[in-house]
Amino acid sequence: MTSESSKLAFNDGWQYSPAPESTDHIVIDEQYGLFIDNEFVEPAEGQYFDTINPATEEFLASVALATDADVSRAVKAARKAKNGAWSKMKPADRGKYIYRIARILQERAREFSVIESLDGGKPIRESRDIDIPLSAAHFFYYAGWADKLDYAFPGRTSKPLGVVGQVIPWNFPLLMAAWKIAPALACGNTVVLKPAETTPLTAMKLAEVIRDAELPPGVVNFVTGAGDTGASIVNHPDVDKIAFTGSTEVGRIIQQSIAGTGKRYTLELGGKAANIIFADAAIDQAVEGIVNGIFFNQGHVCCAGSRLLVQESVADEVVSKLKDRMETLIVGDPLDKNTDIGAINSASQLQTIQSYLKIGEEEGAEMHQSSCVLPERGYWCRPTIFTGVSQSNRVVQEEIFGPVLAIQTFRTPEEGLEKANNTPYGLSGGVWTDKGSKIFQITKKVRAGVIWANTFNKFDPTSPFGGYKESGIGSEGGLHGLNAYVELVK
Ligand code: NAP
Ligand code: MG
Repeated sequence: MTSESSKLAFNDGWQYSPAPESTDHIVIDEQYGLFIDNEFVEPAEGQYFDTINPATEEFLASVALATDADVSRAVKAARKAKNGAWSKMKPADRGKYIYRIARILQERAREFSVIESLDGGKPIRESRDIDIPLSAAHFFYYAGWADKLDYAFPGRTSKPLGVVGQVIPWNFPLLMAAWKIAPALACGNTVVLKPAETTPLTAMKLAEVIRDAELPPGVVNFVTGAGDTGASIVNHPDVDKIAFTGSTEVGRIIQQSIAGTGKRYTLELGGKAANIIFADAAIDQAVEGIVNGIFFNQGHVCCAGSRLLVQESVADEVVSKLKDRMETLIVGDPLDKNTDIGAINSASQLQTIQSYLKIGEEEGAEMHQSSCVLPERGYWCRPTIFTGVSQSNRVVQEEIFGPVLAIQTFRTPEEGLEKANNTPYGLSGGVWTDKGSKIFQITKKVRAGVIWANTFNKFDPTSPFGGYKESGIGSEGGLHGLNAYVELVK
């Protein structure tokens, strides 16, 4: 189908009937306190902030703003639990609590999916099929390790690090919490976690799950707030380890502020992944993979395939097919099961993306956007591709974190590799080819923590995830993810 014919199909008014997921079954309180010692408590200074639905700009709930005093209270609770009930418990029993969390999450999956989409703007199809099941899978997976740490570290004895401070971003709110909390608990640590300011609600729901699973008070605590609350956790003297996922900019600040303190840290930061399509690839499959890798979830993915390197002889075909496919993507109500691209997470993220669209044009790139009609309220961005970009362009080098794809071409595999590796990041990448030998040759030379071949953005709790260069330090997931939460004593 050509761009013209696909446009016609839509302009003729041929559309899917709406298939909205119901919100009748969910409960969101008007106000949430801080979750400390298994109870929701008032913040010391009595301040709250609002979280909204980015698709409608409507109020969802108000959430406590934690200050230094609140963070200290949470750390104190975590320390008490670490020295008390949680340490004295048999590892197999620790595992049972983590299994319980996993099972309750599964039971409440529908409710969690809807709340994740309401609070963050992501399509229900993604929260329902990816975020929530993968979060439960992480708890199941790490529950199994709790009493088998001797097998994880043969010949060594592992000890928990103590109280762990965790700070997470808004793009996968529950999943990032699961990535962080599950291995920390399995290894015997206790936790103080701060969700992102714009997406605190599934953390509040997870707090209910922790309470219902009857974990000993203080084992998991949630403090909500903005960057200052995160900084307060990072700088708290009684926190033994910081686990951070977010931007490279904030990662750098964290690294500087804990230098010399003896605190451990892992940093999962930004990315600018390239998908490399060779002429021998299954082109339709590759185009679908590219679309999935950058446009679904609005490009709000650290490992999004935000760059495309396509071999010159198939470049015209790939770009034309991408434009056609882009035209058919459905942008709109995150709760509609047909939606491919939901709302941008916040007004400020939309502003950032829009500033990059301007930069791309000013740098001389050719911008092509889908012609879809955007809803009047809320924060939206059309799927966008840039062609005619050069390696030094900012839209090629910098993380945009939106549905924006920069396309370059290459002639030889060496040139493709050279371009793929030429960014400050090294989180993920993709290779599309019909030749198994080429997959092995190329993937060995792409300097990225995770590389997919003939697929993209596939996750599993058993598989480690982490990056090189400015994409961070340390890995999460799998056996590697346990390393980040233990001290090996002999
Ligand atoms: P961000 O601005 O760095 O924020 C991340 C978290 O840090 C938020 O909870 C934020 O609070 C908090 N924070 C802000 N300033 C802080 C400070 N000075 N000290 C301590 N904490 C602070 O990142 P974001 O915009 O939320 O998320 C997008 C970024 O995350 C992208 O760069 C993406 O690539 C990266 N990411 C990486 C991975 C990975 O696994 N490598 C996974 C997902 C996302 P507020 O919410 O209040 O700002
Ligand atoms: Mg929100």
